[in-house]
Amino acid sequence: MTEIKYPDQRSKRFIFVPFCLLCQAFQARGIVRFGFSSVIKPIFDELLKHDLNIIQMPCPESRLGGYEKGLQRGPRGIEDYNTPEFLAICDVAANEVLQMIKAIINNGFEVVGILGLEYSPSCSVLLQYSNKGTTHHSGHFIAALQRKLRTEQIKVPFIGINRRGIKASIKKIRELICKKLF
Ligand code: SF4
Repeated sequence: MTEIKYPDQRSKRFIFVPFCLLCQAFQARGIVRFGFSSVIKPIFDELLKHDLNIIQMPCPESRLGGYEKGLQRGPRGIEDYNTPEFLAICDVAANEVLQMIKAIINNGFEVVGILGLEYSPSCSVLLQYSNKGTTHHSGHFIAALQRKLRTEQIKVPFIGINRRGIKASIKKIRELICKKLF
């Protein structure tokens, strides 16, 4: 390994975020309506205060059928996405994230947490829309990632951002980063 002569100033802490948190245009058409048209800024304002490395996870929905088609998609429910083709996309994306997490941890760094986006059929941690109102289960991509982490016995906390309650989500993220949660 090459000898490094200068102090290593790299932050050793990482957080993983959903792709669209930095890029709302990758959301389905017609559902970006909570005042954030590109970056969900208040979340990043908080993350930037804590000297974290921020990793943007893949967006599985926009990969379905290729990005060109993916960017034209309308909103769909979790059942609509419950297809072998989409689950395979989630599996590949989750594996990419898993490999990064393993490399980070094996290099002595820390993954502080993984953020999801509530009510997304792919990236929610807990909350979903249904005909009967809100139900509690993870989106397909987050579920795949959680399964892979469990198999590898890697424990990383998840927090779902609720765009309708952004202040409460920021409080949870702050508590997570400051180790007052989990
Ligand atoms: S699949 Fe995930 S990253 Fe892609 S738009 Fe939906 S919530 Fe965002």
